[in-house]
Amino acid sequence: ATPMSVMVGVGRGARDGVLIKNAEVLEVMEKVDTVVVDKTGTLTEGRPEVTWIEPAPDWSREGLLAIAAAVENQSEHPLASAIVRKAKADKIDIQHANQFDAMTGIGVSAQVESRAVLIGSAKLLTDQSIEADQGLIDAANERQAGGATVVFVAVDQQFAGAIGISDPIKESTPAALGTLQDLGLKVIMLTGDAEPTARAVAKELGVDEFHAGVSPQDKHDFVKKLKDQGKSVAMAGDGINDAPALAAADVGIAMGTGTGVAIESAGVTLVGGDLRGIAAAAVLSRKTMSNIR
Ligand code: ADP
Ligand code: MG
Repeated sequence: ATPMSVMVGVGRGARDGVLIKNAEVLEVMEKVDTVVVDKTGTLTEGRPEVTWIEPAPDWSREGLLAIAAAVENQSEHPLASAIVRKAKADKIDIQHANQFDAMTGIGVSAQVESRAVLIGSAKLLTDQSIEADQGLIDAANERQAGGATVVFVAVDQQFAGAIGISDPIKESTPAALGTLQDLGLKVIMLTGDAEPTARAVAKELGVDEFHAGVSPQDKHDFVKKLKDQGKSVAMAGDGINDAPALAAADVGIAMGTGTGVAIESAGVTLVGGDLRGIAAAAVLSRKTMSNIR
């Protein structure tokens, strides 16, 4: 039977917006020594906005945004929503795209008026030997070093431009990470985003270990490797791309603001996506377990 104090603990968590799935989660949380966090939508707001549009020489700003929005209109990724919102704000008529395909953690592709469009990470384009000019790569790097995400657009295997998208760090994140470190927990950031963007965000938050360009499978494998090394791991994330890692962790922590798949894979849900709930859960489990002993 579940001890009374565990039920009280779960109830107390719920009152503070920390939804704990069952008694076992509260027990396991006490032993957690490593907290792995996703970047986009977990450390950051997850409401990104287009802040920079740089067309290739043959393209206009509007033309680039229009063709990108036509493809992204069929994607549910937060980056896609940002591009579609920007196109609508600029009164661009969004065309229909055919043969849409999403490559999780890499990008998207589709046909727009029989033109083949690719949008995603720099790697997506370089893997297909699509080169951007150096001036544009430098400008993109500069945006990334400022913490923005940059996606690259190719049309008919030719580079068409880059779009910079900014997603501010949640107001509550710095304090939340500070408390976790004060509790003696190691914080590691994992992201599918590019290295320079990841570095900028990690530096701003004082997170000394981070890994960029990480696929959903890599996130899962990373958590599993930590566990194999004897660590007790909590993993916090918001997206479909985090679900395998959330399920693999000793304690999966989903953002209540995130996707249903993440919430289903997790033992803890932070109602408003406020990461201070992780430390609250850790403290709650330590208190609850010491009450039982
Ligand atoms: P994160 O781990 O930060 O939540 P994802 O794994 O979802 O990020 O995505 C990683 C990268 O893949 C993005 O930074 C972007 O370059 C690319 N990407 C994924 N989906 C899209 C999309 N719909 N449009 C453009 N780029 C995308
Ligand atoms: Mg995310």
